[in-house]
Amino acid sequence: MASPTVDEDLCIACGLCSQTCPEVFELNNDAGYAEVKENAISCDEAGCCEESADLCPVNAIEL
Ligand code: SF4
Repeated sequence: MASPTVDEDLCIACGLCSQTCPEVFELNNDAGYAEVKENAISCDEAGCCEESADLCPVNAIEL
């Protein structure tokens, strides 16, 4: 699975993805949206990207 992306324009910074999958996502409070961590492990390894994408209330996570 390739690295996921977060649509910054859609993201409402609810924090669900970073809580569900902290190995991959982090909330950038200053910017007001979530980001894929610079040193994120792969989604295959983390095993939680899909759940995060499903939980995202605005469908901002693309896998
Ligand atoms: S779950 Fe979606 S809306 Fe919430 S912080 Fe993550 S990307 Fe943003």
